[in-house]
Amino acid sequence: MTARPAECPICEETAQSILEEEFDGMAIGCPVCGTFRVSQASVDSLGRYKIEIRRGLLLSAARRVGPAQIPSLSHID
Ligand SMILES: [Zn+2]
Repeated sequence: MTARPAECPICEETAQSILEEEFDGMAIGCPVCGTFRVSQASVDSLGRYKIEIRRGLLLSAARRVGPAQIPSLSHID
């Protein structure tokens, strides 16, 4: 799997994305937000929210899984 440049769906900085087919989404490595997974459907939904709200969603996802795991954003609508 190769990382390719992408816009971070949370903060809109340039990030690396790796497609994850089994997850139907991608892993994002963002210099600002860190590493997280996001489903394709959630990328589309996140575009409707303000950056502050998106950051909050990622924060709660990170709290849910704890520091040892990669947070994933799915089922956002
Ligand atoms: Zn970001």
